[in-house]
Amino acid sequence: MALLQIARVALDLPLRRLFDYRIPEGESLTRQDIGYRVRVPFAQQQKIGVLVDVLADTELAPAQLKTLGDVLRDLPPLPASWFRLTEFCAAYYHVPLGQVMLSTLPAGLRTPMPRKPTRRRQVPATGRTEQVPVLTGEQEASLQAIASGGTGFRAYLLHGVTGSGKTEVYLRLIERALASGQQSLLLVPEINLTPQLEARVLARFASARPVSLHSGLGEAARARNWRAALTGEARIVLGTRLAVFAPLPELGLIIVDEEHDASFKQQDGIRYSARDLAVFRARDGELPIILGSATPSLESWANAQRSGGGRYQLLSLRERAFVGARLPLVRCIDTRVDRPRDGLSAAVLAAIEQRLARAEQSLVFLNRRGYAHVLACVACGWTSSCQRCAANLVVHLADHCLRCHHCGFAAGVPRRCPTCGNQDLATFGRGTQRLEASLAEHFPQACIVRADRDSASNHKQWEALQARIESGEAQILVGTQMLAKGHDFPRLTLVAAVAPDAALVAADWRAPERLFAQLMQVAGRAGRAERPGEVLLQTQFPEHPLYAALLRQDYQAFATAQLAERRQAGFPPYAFQAMLRAEAGRMEDALTFLAAARAFPPSLAEPAVSCYDPVPMRLSRRASLERAQLLIESPSRRALQRFLTSWVVWLEAVRAPSRLRWHLEVDPLEF
Ligand code: ADP
Ligand code: ZN
Ligand code: ZN
Repeated sequence: MALLQIARVALDLPLRRLFDYRIPEGESLTRQDIGYRVRVPFAQQQKIGVLVDVLADTELAPAQLKTLGDVLRDLPPLPASWFRLTEFCAAYYHVPLGQVMLSTLPAGLRTPMPRKPTRRRQVPATGRTEQVPVLTGEQEASLQAIASGGTGFRAYLLHGVTGSGKTEVYLRLIERALASGQQSLLLVPEINLTPQLEARVLARFASARPVSLHSGLGEAARARNWRAALTGEARIVLGTRLAVFAPLPELGLIIVDEEHDASFKQQDGIRYSARDLAVFRARDGELPIILGSATPSLESWANAQRSGGGRYQLLSLRERAFVGARLPLVRCIDTRVDRPRDGLSAAVLAAIEQRLARAEQSLVFLNRRGYAHVLACVACGWTSSCQRCAANLVVHLADHCLRCHHCGFAAGVPRRCPTCGNQDLATFGRGTQRLEASLAEHFPQACIVRADRDSASNHKQWEALQARIESGEAQILVGTQMLAKGHDFPRLTLVAAVAPDAALVAADWRAPERLFAQLMQVAGRAGRAERPGEVLLQTQFPEHPLYAALLRQDYQAFATAQLAERRQAGFPPYAFQAMLRAEAGRMEDALTFLAAARAFPPSLAEPAVSCYDPVPMRLSRRASLERAQLLIESPSRRALQRFLTSWVVWLEAVRAPSRLRWHLEVDPLEF
């Protein structure tokens, strides 16, 4: 057998290649060592890479070869399943393999700094012990269906109305996986949702060493939890999108909660969908995956609807689980008749009044933060706009400034118009701060709590807010979608969406899907326990089909209508898309680059793939960079992938103007 003397290593570099090193004398590596992290010299630096192969030979001349540094055996080698996942991710999203591999490791495991030993945090011994409820008939039926599905890859779409007890189904499935000696991976969209769920999982399965993985953890904790997953010590991993990459040698079950949520899509760096990677992972590992939602993504819904059984098996929970809890009553308030004052109709005010009298909570939902959308001079027409973005500066009164929600630029609120000196400046539009102020005027005695990214910018603040809500101290909650997701506030019986119409008229064709999901979610916060819930929608289009479906809480009708429209228009899920985006100092440069990208050589052409014309993005300037995009589309995912694979390589050789940056996004969600 030839002596193995070459180590092939993946490094975090924007290059589509791997790097070969000479194995030093005294170190003998075999293929069993593949998956260890290694330290290597690279351009005067030390880098950490992943050993992906050991070979007898390389094409490189011996003089060009550098010598491998340490092999880091502090962790077991990364398993083959992790290699297949990162390889799939690299190939599908057209990102160099080394970048995928290294960027999915916790920072502490991929930077060549000497690591300080970290003190182990004690797993909280939880005071709470969970009452395990008797399953409802529907929960039982879903579990039965999954149990009788047998082994091997199976995808289930668990469509359950809010409060139907999907979480209980997840916990029972995890219990079964534990009993058969398997690890479970539970993905949730938001880090705000992990502590609540973590507490429930801990209360029930403390001995299974559940660990969480999300960006809110410190590096040491993240590395520790990652290690526990890899060694098999942790039997349950709960996390946000990045947890999809956790190496789990004995994985037996994957659950994706709120599978429709856009947070599963990474929006920068490697633009992957954790939901889609989770499905790959289940197929590759031949395991069951459960995608849960009250409002599934239309992609998943279509997968469950395909004739001949569908690719996903649909399981439905139609009733709320808590005994006596029923779905809330949804009503439209016609704002052409009941005209809102300060954004609040008489019907909404009366309903809040009633809740205050009954010591119940109300949630007033408005998905815009800040005080007002813009500050303007009525004398000369000046408006507060960001100098770096094609966007308004939003008025924030809580900390007296104008703020850009796109680049973070902030300035003081001017006393007079910067153009004409007029002192009478006006605000337009309404954000959560203004709504909070109006509510305080109407209900001066009430305790009002605002929850948005300004009032709860970090974990601590959010937990403090949540405690005030749970204790019942808060009587009226004002908030953005931060309050809409997954929370269980038993005293909350009224939800008022005060300005949902804005999203109805948005240009993005995915806007209705997002609005419907958001309103169903926020409506789902009302009446989750004994007391019945009521949902009021302030709208000037009460007959709109989207609201009509919402009134009946009829996701299926909404999805069917939307899918018919998408099929007609040739949009996903009936087509597959990718977006090439460019950013440059001048719009002309961005557009010229995209035009050059579109003029690829005929040898790359795929008949089933079309490239549209380059256009400026809706937010055409951000942080002083002009932005443009080019849409690529095909009815065939295969054809699209074939094209992208060769196109990207060709593009990387095209000389882009200096200071131009571009990236490719597969399955984009935002347009
Ligand atoms: P979902 O995730 O579908 O929105 P949850 O799992 O959070 O719903 O359940 C909603 C509420 O119903 C929770 O308070 C939960 O404890 C309760 N619940 C779940 N299953 C049952 C059951 N079988 N019997 C009684 N209560 C239940
Ligand atoms: Zn002016
Ligand atoms: Zn800006």
